[in-house]
Amino acid sequence: TMAPVPSSMKAIQIAKNGGLEVLEYKDVPVPALKEGQVLVRNEYAGINFIDTYFRSGLYPAPGFPLTLGREAAGEVVAAHPSVTGLQPGARVVYMANDAGAYAQYSPVSATGVVPIPDGLSTEKAAAVYIQGLTAWTFIREAGQVKPGQWTLVHAAAGGVGLLLVQMLRSVGAKVIGTASTEEKLELARKNGAEWTINSHDDVVAKVKEITGGHGIDVIFDGVGKATFDADLEMIALNGNLISFGNASGAVPPFSILKLGPKNVRLMRPVVNGYVSTREALEKNSSELFELVISGKLDVKIHKVYPLADAKQAQADIESRKTTGKLLLKCN
Ligand code: NDP
Repeated sequence: TMAPVPSSMKAIQIAKNGGLEVLEYKDVPVPALKEGQVLVRNEYAGINFIDTYFRSGLYPAPGFPLTLGREAAGEVVAAHPSVTGLQPGARVVYMANDAGAYAQYSPVSATGVVPIPDGLSTEKAAAVYIQGLTAWTFIREAGQVKPGQWTLVHAAAGGVGLLLVQMLRSVGAKVIGTASTEEKLELARKNGAEWTINSHDDVVAKVKEITGGHGIDVIFDGVGKATFDADLEMIALNGNLISFGNASGAVPPFSILKLGPKNVRLMRPVVNGYVSTREALEKNSSELFELVISGKLDVKIHKVYPLADAKQAQADIESRKTTGKLLLKCN
């Protein structure tokens, strides 16, 4: 007894790149399904920092108008006849580059849609998905973190950051978190960062002190431009530098000769590459869900905003006032 799918819906679109002012809350047609797609009625869509890059133009938009948003959780309400597995009624979560998840309904390739297990709420599934898959695959595949290693997480109270510190602690790493306020550092400590450093302090000097001169074996840096040079100073010999974001701007071009003195292994991974097969997507998703269901991973939701307030949500994440996950309530 599902409500029929309407012909139009609310969505947040941009017609051009720019500041917050380009975000428009609009009535748009519910997109028609293409081969292989299902239509998801989004309950909650995730706000991710990457959404601001597509808005600003740091990452080029595939075209305009563009409906922002690349993850949500909700219910399948229709399936293209070519889809065999997923059927209406399924409670699901997805990440998809082209979903347009800041909307009431999104057409998504069925191969990118994963059922939410019993015991995990739709809200938590949306809140943990992209950021959790990112943290989990970057620790194991990009960083290849070993128990006892020194690790450092920048923006440790943010969405990805709070998940990274918890997971790193659980794999037995020694975890240092950085953040810009004392409240954020306190939160990072509660979530598994045994040591914290205020990013306004001399981070390199503090790391030297904390690690007894060893430096950091694996650095997780989603801040980018502002922290990259310090990363090269505080990385340990043979360390892994995982640079994965641009919250402060993109890392400018640099000479690879800078990697030589400490045999630095530098990576710039994107989560999609670690879940590009159905097998990898299902495996990593189920491991992530299990961490949440078992209580080993706490998912902190900063705030749930009405879809109409996406502008405020993006303003908040950009102004560094948030901790944990921001969600939009789409329906
Ligand atoms: P966060 O919730 O972490 O928000 C960004 C945080 O970055 C802020 O809270 C702030 O923490 C810090 N920051 C430092 N400098 C600035 C600045 N100048 N402006 C704004 N924030 C700043 O966001 P997400 O968890 O969504 O994303 C974190 C990072 O991870 C982003 O760079 C994102 O692009 C990246 N990412 C990359 C993925 C990939 O596949 N490569 C996948 C998912 C996320 P503080 O105040 O403590 O410094």
